[in-house]
Amino acid sequence: MDSWDYKLYSNQLYKVPDVVFKIEINTSLCADKLPISDEIENNHLKWLNDSKFYGDVPVTNTLNSLVPYIYSFLPEKYIIPMYRVVDWVTIFDDLVLENKNYTPEYLESIFNRNAIHDHFGKSYWKILDEFDNIDVPRELMNDIMRKYVKSIIKSFSVNLRDSTFNEYFKIRRKTSGSKVFLSTFLLDLKCNNIASTIMVNPLVERLCILISNCNSLLNDLYSFVKEFQSEEYDNYVKVLCYQLTKDLTYPYTTDIIQTSMNKIKDIIESSYEEAAEIGELIKNHSEWNQEEHTILEIILKRIYESAYGHILTYKNTFRYISNH
Ligand SMILES: [Mg+2]
Repeated sequence: MDSWDYKLYSNQLYKVPDVVFKIEINTSLCADKLPISDEIENNHLKWLNDSKFYGDVPVTNTLNSLVPYIYSFLPEKYIIPMYRVVDWVTIFDDLVLENKNYTPEYLESIFNRNAIHDHFGKSYWKILDEFDNIDVPRELMNDIMRKYVKSIIKSFSVNLRDSTFNEYFKIRRKTSGSKVFLSTFLLDLKCNNIASTIMVNPLVERLCILISNCNSLLNDLYSFVKEFQSEEYDNYVKVLCYQLTKDLTYPYTTDIIQTSMNKIKDIIESSYEEAAEIGELIKNHSEWNQEEHTILEIILKRIYESAYGHILTYKNTFRYISNH
């Protein structure tokens, strides 16, 4: 069959390699301390419990620390709804999308403010109202989230087993949340128009692709244990394992997963190196005017900081650590 057969790889010995961040930045982010106040973290946990997504089962830890780490530069008032909406979509994905527990009409209704909502829809629009209260139009956020959920659903029908690196990441970038990040990482600056002209610059585009790939690959490395038994080729470690063994006879040597993971570590680290070089090219590009230059400095700083935050997320996160 065309699906991933984990039993073929159950003899494997491996350890997730330590990925080194190859870009020099000034940052106060560190793995053992969340870059948000205890108050925000506790409020978020309370929100998760009050929302009762898992019925009456108490949630004792926040799901992951992605938002605090990758949006560490945003003022707290933006972090609060961002943290909620990202967890909302994570839970919605786990409980509804992955279980194919929906109809197209149901999805349409979730993203339509005037529809009748179940508790997913109600909690979703409550979060969007919170955005609206801090001058981030709720329909702007709705547009971003709706497109994101649609791309997740579209990816279900694609089998990535035989995909090349570029094919895999073309799909993966759409479903990894990179788009959501790139549409929101300047939320507080109200400079979306300037930003969008800058974002189509080929150098900036290449930088975003490189960093998005790194973020997806980090997720693949650290969620591999959790995803090992699922049949989908939803993880680049699986794709590489398949491609490394398709012409071999079973049983395979015990280093296939490790070889795939090491290859991924190399890709991530060399992508960081290229991203650092591109940052220099962007800064020294002579065509920018003063205003563009100022915003580009911010963009670079934030993209790098969030890339580093991505690594720390997996070193910190209960969700991933608990699955080892
Ligand atoms: Mg994953």
